Amino acid sequence: MNNGLDSSQKGEETSPFLFICVILRLYHVSLFMRSFFKKITRFSRLAMLKILHGLIDLFFPRICVLCKGLLFEKEEQICLECSLNLNYTDFFISEVNPLAGFFEGKADIEKTMAFLHYEKGGNVQKLIFSIKYYGNKKLAHLLGRMAARELKPCMENWPAVDFLVPVPLHPKRLRERGYNQSEWICLGLASVLNIPVNTKSLLRNKYTKTQTRKDMEERSLNVRGAFVINDTETLQGRHVLLVDDVLTSGSTILACAEALLTIPNIRVSVLAIAKA
Ligand SMILES: [Zn+2]
Repeated sequence: MNNGLDSSQKGEETSPFLFICVILRLYHVSLFMRSFFKKITRFSRLAMLKILHGLIDLFFPRICVLCKGLLFEKEEQICLECSLNLNYTDFFISEVNPLAGFFEGKADIEKTMAFLHYEKGGNVQKLIFSIKYYGNKKLAHLLGRMAARELKPCMENWPAVDFLVPVPLHPKRLRERGYNQSEWICLGLASVLNIPVNTKSLLRNKYTKTQTRKDMEERSLNVRGAFVINDTETLQGRHVLLVDDVLTSGSTILACAEALLTIPNIRVSVLAIAKA
């Protein structure tokens, strides 16, 4: 009798416990189902994106700007083979930088660097033409990133750079070209180096004809006084890295540097994607 009474009492005691267990179990099942469906949705979204990219590649194949071969999935603008065969200066890693005295006696420039050698008719010229005359912003950004990856380790020995300053375009040239290639190189550099890009402090107030067919003296006269400082405060006492696509005679960079060096306690270094 006692046993019967005990078991019924036990039953009354265990039923709320069982109820809680069932609720907990259902809760766990619902959590599992939710994460399962989330994974499925994410997977199908990724699969859809892959299919979409595949279709885009099929109708608009991504090709290397240099060899025109099809690009593999991870390649961007330049295929691996062309990228390996580019004419790198290796100035970033060489003990003696051949550009160290480039502006000596002309302007007080801290460091002068170039990432690639520019040769007429060569692949580097094709890259520069693509960013300069064919509006290839993505390539300008990529070249900035590529240069930054090489530059980053050697910058550890430099005085810290506070701003990246692209060589500015005159507003009329900007409208003609649609974008400033040096600014996009800066954006690529900035994405790796985490240094802000300053496009407001240095402006170009003189519309100049293209420098390509001019000799050194004509180039220098062409850009003299072409740049002005719009805001002194931001760059005062700062170290700026002045960025351009090609360093040829240096007259454009020099004209920019002369304007920048009117700012008190500023330090100026120079980076060009290519040295002609
Ligand atoms: Zn290629």
